[in-house]
Amino acid sequence: MHDTEAPRLVAPIPAYAHVLAVIAHPDDVEALCGGTVALLRDAGARVSYVLLTSGDKGSPDPLADRVALGARREAEQLAAAALLDVAEVIFLRRFDGEVSDDAPTRAALAAQIRRLRPDLLLTFDPWYDYSFHNDHRQCGFVALAAARTLARRPGPVCGPAGEVVAPLAPPHAIPEVWFFHTERPTIVFDIAPTIARKAAARVAHASQAADPVATARGIYTRAAAVGERYGLALAESFRAVPFPADESFAARLAAAEW
Ligand SMILES: [Zn+2]
Repeated sequence: MHDTEAPRLVAPIPAYAHVLAVIAHPDDVEALCGGTVALLRDAGARVSYVLLTSGDKGSPDPLADRVALGARREAEQLAAAALLDVAEVIFLRRFDGEVSDDAPTRAALAAQIRRLRPDLLLTFDPWYDYSFHNDHRQCGFVALAAARTLARRPGPVCGPAGEVVAPLAPPHAIPEVWFFHTERPTIVFDIAPTIARKAAARVAHASQAADPVATARGIYTRAAAVGERYGLALAESFRAVPFPADESFAARLAAAEW
């Protein structure tokens, strides 16, 4: 990308009916896309989160009680979500550090996608070059796999042993995905109107904000660094990808960036 083209990526926030964020840990949304989630909510979208883990291993203390830490982090996530007026938070409670693009997780996610029926999916860009955070990479892959296959195929959602996971909800095709934590953004939003709420929501993860002032400052610093590239004071960037409803080469070609 040439610098001269960069400002053209700045866009007004589109209107969506229901936005689903699939994330790996408590604080992922707030740290990486909370300003845009607040913008989408302000524009009328209902917002839901599915967390793959509850952050139950994110402690420097090797003897930390995993169950207690997970419960605390879930409570913090609910408080953070309330600050952004999020409608629903679902915890799938996979083990922290062991997120996998596996059949049970695909089925569990697909069941939620069919129930919630979002028109926009937010998740990690799994193709972020040299991303060594396994949970983040796998989160992007498993969210895409669930959306691409089990959620939109006719018939029930079945688990790995063929058991029916979601017999009633009809298939649902999400038309668009926005990847956060991306190196190749296609859209940029001005989050100046929502940065205070984003920072407050991030600080609500108290067990991951030992110094709340420093944590909030970090949110502003990161948003300013992104914004500087696009002529904005404070910004978040995403790679937006249409999710073609058919398998044709023409549709894939149209969705590709050259
Ligand atoms: Zn994370």
